[in-house]
Amino acid sequence: MIDSSDEAMILAHGGDCYEQFLGSVAPPVFMSSLFTCNSLDEYHFGAPGKHIYSRYTNPDVSVLEQKVAELENGRFCLAYANGMAAASAAILSKAKAGGHIVCVHNAYGCIHEFLEVYLQPVMQMTYTYVHGYDTQEILQALQDNTCLIILESPGSDTFTLVDLQAVTAEAKKRGIPTYIDNTYCTPLYQKPLSLGIDIVMHTATKYMGGHSDVLGGLLVTNDEETYNRLKQLRHLFGGISAPMEAWLILRGLRTMKVRLDEHQKIATEIANELEKDPRVRKVYYPGLESFPQKQLRDKQQSGSSGLMSFEINGTVEQARAVVERLKVFSLGPSWGGFESLVMMPLYFKSEEYAEWYGASRGLIRIHCGLEGVKPLLEDLRQALSVLDEGESA
Ligand SMILES: *Cc1c(COP(=O)(O)O)cnc(C)c1O
Repeated sequence: MIDSSDEAMILAHGGDCYEQFLGSVAPPVFMSSLFTCNSLDEYHFGAPGKHIYSRYTNPDVSVLEQKVAELENGRFCLAYANGMAAASAAILSKAKAGGHIVCVHNAYGCIHEFLEVYLQPVMQMTYTYVHGYDTQEILQALQDNTCLIILESPGSDTFTLVDLQAVTAEAKKRGIPTYIDNTYCTPLYQKPLSLGIDIVMHTATKYMGGHSDVLGGLLVTNDEETYNRLKQLRHLFGGISAPMEAWLILRGLRTMKVRLDEHQKIATEIANELEKDPRVRKVYYPGLESFPQKQLRDKQQSGSSGLMSFEINGTVEQARAVVERLKVFSLGPSWGGFESLVMMPLYFKSEEYAEWYGASRGLIRIHCGLEGVKPLLEDLRQALSVLDEGESA
């Protein structure tokens, strides 16, 4: 495993090719749909470093892919237009008509939707949702026709962990490929390939971009056959990242370590303060000392980022009142940028769904941005004070 000083080096210089670009430190943005060739042979067979058509490869996209492959300690990387383009490409590359998929219950919501509205009705696939924190439940869900295990650790909104080594060891024995969404940790805080995962997905829209100004997705794998299949499908589905987007993600990556360490520092302080607040019933944050899967966390993660959830001592409507009173935390989807955000991921779900998910409908998810601890804490406290008013009224 590479140490963090190497990671800083990769973030700064991985994929660099100054000499190719007239010494330019930042690669130019190659806004060209095609690249002309010297011969028909070159056009047909290609040549090392030769680009032909930007739906296949593009210089900016290649620099990005090189950097992220190095960061994940992986052999191959492919960049996509957004996280879901990468996720659906990976899943389709392993999907089989009539096959079965095991998926963690707190995978990113659109993954469930993809299984339910596309793979099941169109490809006659079946799926089993499992609580990823229970390895036995995952293994018991495997069937003879299981063609993929979809993992996310920490999972969305409740941040439960999957024992990646335990699951991948058994999956390998049975020849079942494994996929993980590693967006929460980024390659800096978790390296799933080294824990046996076959395909790692990143939503570059979050910390890699880091400035809430770009969408992107990435897949990393060590398996050449998987890579070739993914590459072929990317030609056919057309999900590749555009050059300007790849350039923006590259720019974000250069500062990801300083940003991520700061997000973690701020989030850890906020989580500790929330945990002490009597108006807060429960905090969901993998970085807490009291985190239930602390041992597993320390085994497979080297950090936790800026996203967490909490529940108040109060009703769902009171939770909503707290959320709508926040000022520094803006109400909105997504996360991973410089700014603080809040939302209620389960508010519009049923009570039964929320219970199955492992939280209440009043779950409040916050992303701690880079504004600093003080304004964020003050904002949370003034919003939570709506609960004190309720009491005295
Ligand atoms: C945002 C997100 C995605 C989807 O990424 P897009 O770029 O919006 O397609 C997937 N997984 C996780 C965990 C996310 O937070």
